[in-house]
Amino acid sequence: MTLQTNLAQPDTPPIRLVIHGGAGSIERSKLTAEREQAYTQVLAQSLAAGYVILKAGGSSIDAVSAAIVVMEDSPLFNAGRGAVFTHAGRNELDASIMDGATRMAGAVAAITTIRNPIRAAHAVMTQSEHVMLIGQGAETFAAEQGLEIVDPSYFYTEFRWKQLQKAIAEERVLLDHDVDFGIPQPGKDEKRGTVGAVALDRYGNLAAGTSTGGLTNKRFGRVGDSPIIGAGTYADNRSVAVSATGTGEMFIRTAAAFSTAAQVHLLRTPIAEAADNALREIAAIGGDGGLIVLNAEGHYSMRFNTRGMFRGTIGNDGIAWIGIYSGNEMPVTNSPVAITP
Ligand code: ASP
Repeated sequence: MTLQTNLAQPDTPPIRLVIHGGAGSIERSKLTAEREQAYTQVLAQSLAAGYVILKAGGSSIDAVSAAIVVMEDSPLFNAGRGAVFTHAGRNELDASIMDGATRMAGAVAAITTIRNPIRAAHAVMTQSEHVMLIGQGAETFAAEQGLEIVDPSYFYTEFRWKQLQKAIAEERVLLDHDVDFGIPQPGKDEKRGTVGAVALDRYGNLAAGTSTGGLTNKRFGRVGDSPIIGAGTYADNRSVAVSATGTGEMFIRTAAAFSTAAQVHLLRTPIAEAADNALREIAAIGGDGGLIVLNAEGHYSMRFNTRGMFRGTIGNDGIAWIGIYSGNEMPVTNSPVAITP
């Protein structure tokens, strides 16, 4: 009887959230158990924040934003608080978001006082007629929109400051997860990164977002791929939602997020293959990193050509999966709200 009732019910529409916290030379030997647990916990909280929205019938855009806010607020990731420093000793933040239903998008770049850059990107998308606002203009707009403005010192973390001093001493501009870079202290040489999320809501709408502090020791108003629609972020209900992390210049030069979506849309390339093709193009010009990809059926892929990528996903069943290293995905919990890593 119960079985018949179940069979008579229409299929539950799929919901799905996929997140990343940066790709790089992340290896088990470089992460202490405590650090691993700390990252896992924030990733789980991020998944939980987006999941409760999707489960309650909220939109994919809101789920993406909520998931990213959790990682922006954590000092563990190179986004929001905990962002890397520029050569001039500032934290300059970039973010973007895109709605796959309307292909509306919003982005901010080189901002220094907006607590949650992804919220500013969202406001640009919904409350302005523009796609990208930068610097002082973006900050004035965010304040007008009632977003939280903080003193630039809010973004300061000692680890990032030391990372900048080392980068200056070595005269290098560093990806957050450069292979041979790290402060030589136990538990400190793990690589961290940009954050992103892609989501599918119960109405079949996709969304994508990405947020970053960019590169350590970056100069001259450098902006990477993360706030650039088509490079670091893309979403189109007809194909996929994509968020990227990695060597931003190469992701811009290969239009990585759009090229992944275009392969799926125009060539019907399977999503994992499309992501791998995009990563191959990036590798061919000397870059590396990762992509998370999700389609409107709820199929997803988390691909990277680095040693590891902080990542996780959750769907209708509420079971969160968190992965850090290559080929190692571990179920974290079967209850997305009561997280017990
Ligand atoms: N893609 C980012 C940038 O180039 C960096 C990262 O993913 O860690 O700004």
